[in-house]
Amino acid sequence: MWSTMQDFPLTITSIMRYGTGVSGGAEVVTWTGDGTRRRSYAEVGERAARLAGALRGLGVDGDQRVATFMWNNAEHLEAYLAVPSMGAVLHTLNLRLFPDQLVYIANHAEDRVVIVDGSLIPLLAPVLDRLETVRHVVVVGAGDTAPLEGAGKELHSYEELLAAAPPEFDWPEIDERSAAAMCYTSGTTGNPKGVVYSHRSAYLHSMAVCTGNALAIDAADRVLPVVPMFHANAWGMPYAALMAGASLVMPDRFLQAEPLARLIEAERPTIAGAVPTIWADLLRYVQEHGADLSSLRLVPCGGSAVPAALMRGFDEIGVRIVQAWGMTETSPVATVAHPPAGAGDDAAWAARVSQGRVLAGLEMRIVGDGDTVLPEDGEAVGEVEIRGPWITGAYHLDEDPARFHDGWLRTGDVGTLSPGGYLVLTDRAKDVIKSGGEWISSVELENHLMAHPDILEAAVVGVPDDRWQERPLASVVVREGAAVTAEALREFLAGRIPKWQLPERWSFIESVPKTSVGKFDKKVLRRRFADGELVVERID
Ligand code: ADP
Repeated sequence: MWSTMQDFPLTITSIMRYGTGVSGGAEVVTWTGDGTRRRSYAEVGERAARLAGALRGLGVDGDQRVATFMWNNAEHLEAYLAVPSMGAVLHTLNLRLFPDQLVYIANHAEDRVVIVDGSLIPLLAPVLDRLETVRHVVVVGAGDTAPLEGAGKELHSYEELLAAAPPEFDWPEIDERSAAAMCYTSGTTGNPKGVVYSHRSAYLHSMAVCTGNALAIDAADRVLPVVPMFHANAWGMPYAALMAGASLVMPDRFLQAEPLARLIEAERPTIAGAVPTIWADLLRYVQEHGADLSSLRLVPCGGSAVPAALMRGFDEIGVRIVQAWGMTETSPVATVAHPPAGAGDDAAWAARVSQGRVLAGLEMRIVGDGDTVLPEDGEAVGEVEIRGPWITGAYHLDEDPARFHDGWLRTGDVGTLSPGGYLVLTDRAKDVIKSGGEWISSVELENHLMAHPDILEAAVVGVPDDRWQERPLASVVVREGAAVTAEALREFLAGRIPKWQLPERWSFIESVPKTSVGKFDKKVLRRRFADGELVVERID
């Protein structure tokens, strides 16, 4: 046997100790709409200890689940640190879910305690009596708690619990492979599925997010996670910030363009992450009203394909968007689209509009029919498979073997890998349009349409067609006051994509329906089409 390095576990406790100790002078700033609340990481560390003591006092033991129903703010960060570090499992509940889904998820995870923001009581109260395993509800901040009464749960005030708890906690030794946190995927078909992060996976993912090929976070940064902390851990930014000693700027519930612009001006974050729809809103706001976003050095964007037009718009105001790809199952950051060394303008753009290159530690491949591994030639199209230490190996209490393949996760995304390792997604497997045996990429059509100056949003879905089995239906949202016709849009696309891919079905809609995490909800569009609710114009 060799004598090698110490077998020191990779845990969230260790991230917490470092972030609130060595980097105790960094701060978490929470936006209140007209000002800020500020707390140093050292204070956050003490409050996390108090929270852990308080939860223990409520009987939280072993790997019991403590759920959060919270915005991005300092208290949510405290739960992020305290719950896993005490050995329990943090379950971030998505507050945009339909009530029945929320009930399913909380019961499936067997949540014991729910920490709820006072402003969200009206969303939690109607389902509280159906949350079978929940014993305690802890309310953060102000809010009328009367609607929570009568559901048979014990109610507590977060601040009172913390004030009564000791400022120190005897953090247990934790096996790095044990469960730290869980998050359910929105479930495009069937019930949502629980993804469980281990201490080790969270630690390694945070390190990867801090590296230069990802977000290059260091102690000089101020990180603004706009993406919710209930959505794949805000892309791992909170833990990464603690690890890097970077401060956090939290938007709380103020996620619209105007308050975000004011927050950025006031708190000067250097990094801010959000889905493309948020950045598109913010860009429009800045173009109309002006705002100083110059503090931002890097804007990671993902969750759905980032339109080139959006990146160009931000380039013009001196802000760099970098596309990233991942999913709840991949912790989520898996690829980031930085251009290769020495790239000229064209090559740099080709890289920026791709989903990027896989981060060190992960492996990716493209698999075709019959599970054959396809060449990385930038041409062969197949399903993306991925493996590595922060990729889920199974779902919580749900084996779902169809999603795994010889130790790789089948992502359900379809695309190509270039010889240089860049991933280009053409679709999600279920959104690919199969027209007469050929595949049409809905994402490509949408990107071209959204580059049209009068189009705000565009979603393309496959609809049944007698002759070709399936053809694209383009649903577009036109900028207020603009007058564009389906013919003009078809003409616009004609120079950009092969003729046989041009949609003949067009629908002008008020807005594209969105999922609970703000992505285009194509399921709803397909259903509206099937139910005859969409007014469809046809041009052949
Ligand atoms: P959901 O399936 O509920 O949307 P996730 O939030 O985990 O769950 O989303 C993961 C999916 O989002 C990916 O499988 C992919 O289809 C899509 N996605 C994420 N980032 C990108 C990106 N940069 N470009 C295109 N699609 C993306």
